[in-house]
Formats: sequence, structure tokens, C-alpha cells
Amino acid sequence: MLQAAQNAPLLAGLEAGGTNFNCVVARDPHRILASARFSTLKPQHTLTEVLAFFRDASETLGPLGTMGIASFGPVDNNPASPDYGRILNTPKFDWVQVHLLDWFREKLGIPVRLDTDVNGAALAEQRLGAARGIDNFIYVTVGTGIGAGIVMGGQLINGFTHTEIGHMRMSRDGERDPFAGCCPFHGDCLEGLACGPALEQRWQRPGTELPPSHPAWELQADYLAQMCANLTYCYAPERIIIGGGVMQNAFLFPLVRERVQQLLNGYGPAPALAHPDSYIVPPALGGVSGQLGALLLAQQQLHGNSPAA
Ligand code: ZN
Repeated sequence: MLQAAQNAPLLAGLEAGGTNFNCVVARDPHRILASARFSTLKPQHTLTEVLAFFRDASETLGPLGTMGIASFGPVDNNPASPDYGRILNTPKFDWVQVHLLDWFREKLGIPVRLDTDVNGAALAEQRLGAARGIDNFIYVTVGTGIGAGIVMGGQLINGFTHTEIGHMRMSRDGERDPFAGCCPFHGDCLEGLACGPALEQRWQRPGTELPPSHPAWELQADYLAQMCANLTYCYAPERIIIGGGVMQNAFLFPLVRERVQQLLNGYGPAPALAHPDSYIVPPALGGVSGQLGALLLAQQQLHGNSPAA
């Protein structure tokens, strides 16, 4: 087994985040051989730094076999699309139309697989974290934005492209919450009401400065519970994992679970009703799920479509 790992091709993993680009090199995701972090600045600057890291790693450790990229979105993650691997209409204007996949494939000369950062994180939680042994689950991140990776029947699912659960409609009581939301497209969609910047704009200070007793959190739990109820009825998952910066506030979990039970009101799939504590959970991998997901994407590229055992 150890021999096999030593002979396995080197995998390059890139978590392309809105704040940082995290780079890792490994033969298997359990043992990282090299890593680096670069700030997300102008594309030419950041991509050149990332490329230099992977080229250096290749010189030190040996030739890279495949690369996986778990990218911020929106990004074309449909392998059948001519724009597969291209960043789309993101508010990070410098990055719009940057073709991440082609850039690394051409510069490094190796096969590259790309998916969204949340799909990458979902893969990592499935293989190594809070969804081991579970075939139907959803990984949600609540941070600068809100997005989800959805795994059904053991496989990540996408439609024409990745889903945009962050933009689902919410029920908002204007008297209780006069904040009109911060989504540039919809105002008070889920992301507009419950992402990190929404918390900060509504209460005029960052979430990290709001104590657990602050009314901000009950409202936050209500929106996240609406999201969980909607996901429960749409997908019937066995588990919903909620990560991201906002969920560092662990006291949110019991509030969300309690509110979900109120919203479901006894109607829904058994896992949601019978086991609320194991139905809505934090991630097991924390901040490294994205980069591990990128390595798993590289591994999938190496082994074809099905995940490696
Ligand atoms: Zn929106």
C-alpha cells in the first residue's frame, strides 16, 4: 500500500478562492508534500505566482500527473461545454472570462479537472469528512457568498451548470428585518440576507463582533433554517453540512436545528425529522476541505470519471 502511494503520480491541487489561492501537491490527499497560499489579486499576478509554485514543486518532487481546481464561481463546470473551466460573471471583475482550466493545462502541460469550490469541498467531506458513508447529502458554505455542492446517489450533481442555491427566495418580514438585502441581482435572496457581508451591513459591524445573545443570530438562524427546509424538500438529503466563515459561530447550529423543526412541522423525510443533531452538522475538515477537494478532482482526472477508491 505504501509502495503504491510512493509510486502514485503527483497530484496538483488548487483551491481558487475569492480571497486566497491555496496550492497543494500530494500523491494522496492524506499526505500533503508541498503547499503555498497566495492572495487573490489581479489574475496575471496571482496565476503567475501559482504557476511558479507548481513548477518549483515539480522540479523538487517530480513531474506532476494531473491537476484539480476547485474554483470560486460562477464558473463553467460542465466538461461538455466549450467554455469548461472559464470564470463567468463574477463581481470580481478582473477575473471575468479568465479561462482557469486552459491556462494551467497549457502552462503545465497536464490534464486538468475543474469544479466549483463547494463541489470540491463536498467531495472532500464525502471521502474524508462529515459525509463518509453517506450517499445523499448537501454541503453548504455560508461566508462571503452562499453556495452548495449536492451529492445524490454518491455522485455530485449539476444541472446545465452548477446550482445557485445562494439565490433562492426567502420569506422576509420587513418589520422584523427592514434590511433590504445586499445581492446586486435580487436584494433579499438567501445570499443577500444571510451571507457574511449581509450580516455586517445590517448590523453595522462584522459578525465576529456580535455576541451570541445578539438578535442578529436568531434572524440568521431563521434564514438558514428556511434554506435547510427548502433543501430538505427539494433533495431529501440524509445530511446537510454547513461550513464557511459565518458558521464558525458554533452556537448557530442548535438555533438552526430548532427552527428547521418548527418549519418542517413534522412533515418531511425521516433523517430530517428523527435526528436533527446528525442532520445539520458542521464540516469535519474545516478550512482545508477546498484544497483536499482539488486533490480529489485531480485524482478523478487521473482515474477517469469515477472517484478513485
Ligand atoms: Zn441573489
